[in-house]
Amino acid sequence: MKELPSGAEALQVEIRRLREKIRILEGEAGAFPDLAGNRPDISQDQEKKENLLERERDILQSVMDSVKNSHLAYLDLDFNFVRVNVTYAAACGYSPEEMIGKNHFTLYPHPENEAIFAGVRDTGMPVEYHDKPFEFPDQPERGVTYWDWTLAPVKDRDGVVTGLVLSLFETTERKRTEEALRQAKETADAANRAKSEFLANMSHEIRTPMTVFMAAVEHLLQIDRNPDRRHLLDLADQSARRLRALIDDILDFSRIEARRVELDEEPFELQSCLRSAVDLFSLAAREKNLRLELEVAPETPALLVGDPDRLGQVLINLIGNAVKFTSAGEVRVCVRPRGDTVEFAVADTGIGIPEEKRHRLFQSFSQVDSSFSRRFGGTGLGLAISKGLIDLMGGEISVRSREGKGSVFTFTLPRREAGKHPRALGGEPTL
Ligand code: ADP
Repeated sequence: MKELPSGAEALQVEIRRLREKIRILEGEAGAFPDLAGNRPDISQDQEKKENLLERERDILQSVMDSVKNSHLAYLDLDFNFVRVNVTYAAACGYSPEEMIGKNHFTLYPHPENEAIFAGVRDTGMPVEYHDKPFEFPDQPERGVTYWDWTLAPVKDRDGVVTGLVLSLFETTERKRTEEALRQAKETADAANRAKSEFLANMSHEIRTPMTVFMAAVEHLLQIDRNPDRRHLLDLADQSARRLRALIDDILDFSRIEARRVELDEEPFELQSCLRSAVDLFSLAAREKNLRLELEVAPETPALLVGDPDRLGQVLINLIGNAVKFTSAGEVRVCVRPRGDTVEFAVADTGIGIPEEKRHRLFQSFSQVDSSFSRRFGGTGLGLAISKGLIDLMGGEISVRSREGKGSVFTFTLPRREAGKHPRALGGEPTL
């Protein structure tokens, strides 16, 4: 495709060179006598001039013919072909010599293109088109073809348009490939959505009997005093809880993929949303001897509009991971306004994430090290769900990390305030 303008440029340069030569030769032909009074030999000059012209024409034709993948033509002001390259002539079913003198729009009548040609001739302004459709009247079997083309005026020294350089590059194949790819992607997307729909329906169906099962186990635990059976019931209860957490993750993830998540739009107190999420982990943090802190910048809006449950879900996942992957030090949740967003950061002093693994973090079922899942539990869906939810809420998530030093997960949400209410809750609590 890049050859297209350079082919046209080469042609223009050659035409200009040719004109210049003619001008010089014309000057030489009418030259004044030299100091000794000898007039130049006109007939000899004439022959030289013609030889030179012949050679220039050959060079010009060679330049044009060497451009194999573009159709190049030089047209006069009535759009007759003055010169065409082999590629162009062959595509029309002619040799270059046969094409010369034929009119472009007699061969291929096309009022719209003719108006474009007239526009370039009359204004002296070049035009450029991409993937412009064209149907050959004499080759209907080709159907619609597509072309990148440029039409540029050739001007004399006074700026008067004396001809037009046309260069065409067929893009039909590329267009067809693009179309086929687009259709293939659409089919794949539809199949993927169908899979997510299925997964969402299935996990929903599994969840309902699980809830009944868990309620039954809980009831038995309340009434059964036999230690052996209680032990078994405890095991069943723990496994059922893990299974339900897994099903919940799959349900959420597949709903996000199938675009079946509806977000609430309601004013909510940011501080209480943050505190509920953090409080869930205070016991786990204390057990691991970790400091767990919540810092909210004073200028942070107290009331936001959005979905507090989904925000809570993201925070729970990030804080849960931070606590899970930190064995000493602290986990800090910091919130502050940033331009027209609110920024949330969950920072830990944990094991960190190797650089080469970070790009996969937000993909589904991805765990930095599969041995971790055995050590720490988890599905590898939490961050994919968080990213999906943050995307849906109009924000962005990113991560910074140093192996062995810790990680900071930062996400933003659009700052949508529910009016200018006084701050409902106080400044910078520390747990
Ligand atoms: P999982 O349910 O396995 O925790 P996530 O999607 O939440 O799934 O996390 C994916 C993986 O990313 C984790 O298994 C872990 O390897 C890595 N990871 C996430 N958060 C942290 C963190 N704060 N520190 C270190 N590694 C993390």
